[in-house]
Amino acid sequence: MTPAAATADAARPGSVPTLVIDTAAVTANVRTMGAVTRGEVMAVVKADAFGHGTVAVARAALAGGATRFGVTSLAEAFALRAAGFTERILSWLNPTDADFAAAAAHGIEVAVPGMAHLAAVRAAPGLDVHLQLDTGMARDGASPDEWIALCGAALAAQTAGELSVVGVMGHLPCADRPADPANAAGRARFDWGLQAAQELGLTPGDHHLAATAATASDPLSHHTMSRIGAGLVGIDESHTAPLRPALTLTAPLVQVRDVTAGTSVGYGHSWRTPYDTRLGLLAVGYADGLPRLASNRAEVLVGGRRRPVVGRISMDMTIVDLGPDDGYEGAREGDLATIFGPGDAGEPTAAEWAGWAETLEHEIVTGLGPRLHRVTVGDPPVDSNRPTLTRIR
Ligand SMILES: *Cc1c(COP(=O)(O)O)cnc(C)c1O
Repeated sequence: MTPAAATADAARPGSVPTLVIDTAAVTANVRTMGAVTRGEVMAVVKADAFGHGTVAVARAALAGGATRFGVTSLAEAFALRAAGFTERILSWLNPTDADFAAAAAHGIEVAVPGMAHLAAVRAAPGLDVHLQLDTGMARDGASPDEWIALCGAALAAQTAGELSVVGVMGHLPCADRPADPANAAGRARFDWGLQAAQELGLTPGDHHLAATAATASDPLSHHTMSRIGAGLVGIDESHTAPLRPALTLTAPLVQVRDVTAGTSVGYGHSWRTPYDTRLGLLAVGYADGLPRLASNRAEVLVGGRRRPVVGRISMDMTIVDLGPDDGYEGAREGDLATIFGPGDAGEPTAAEWAGWAETLEHEIVTGLGPRLHRVTVGDPPVDSNRPTLTRIR
């Protein structure tokens, strides 16, 4: 199905709120990121590929030149294997009692962020590991104080045949602000950590520090590979790469009503009509991921024009002012509202919704609820021979 056909389908009166995922945009975005870096592109498909659907995004990313996958939990890695993906997969966020034996059995690579994890991983022989250095977030990864000991213990384990150190990784804290000195400091710490590992005798083939924003804005961060997550789906917080959003959310008007000036609207009566107007009701709300903070701020596209969201967004419903000045007297039940999309037709983008909700685009796209009808369009077409994640969940 083409995007247009999917939209037409969603436009039929009586149809449902629909999230269209454009995998051609994902493929194009991976090509764009691949052209920016000389390194390999790891497609980071965590959190259901940022809410876009792991299998479709993973396939589209491979078509665009990504060579392997990154995820947080082992569960996400096992799901990729179960869906038939045979590429290398790195999982970097696990508790020490995770099933590392199953990771070894499925050929999943794991990050080792400290001595406790190293001990757990040694107990499951045969794993390929990436030693993870904290490069300035105090979040995940070993501190510089522990790093030399970690590298030494990992080398001993490698010599004993228990594991192979195939990578060294870090993550930058402020890559969305390329000029922030924390990035240069993070790079310097990573370079130090990599050199220390090599001087001890480790020979990691992969050294990777950059995610989307650093890949787009900071060539010094590139090393041998970039871990691209947000960029797959068109998000670059450094605003330097020309990427395309991959999601369009539409919903039909389920009811329209004419109201007189002075009518109070929605829970808490947070908006009163200043004029006689026509209101439209959409069957999507905060349970579907529309942030309540965007109430009385957001806009949607109906009848070719931006219309304000009025009153509080409720759990299942959102109210739109369809008039009066740009007069949408013709509005009727079944007319389609575009809540967000790439912006081609003047519709808001997920980035605008993020602004209205005082958050990141990431939080908008990963917060979309399970009730939305999901349609995947574009190339490569969804291969029905390949089991979907829904089937193996
Ligand atoms: C999520 C994540 C990425 C991907 O980051 P994006 O900015 O979304 O490209 C890369 N590395 C790590 C460690 C992550 O957690």
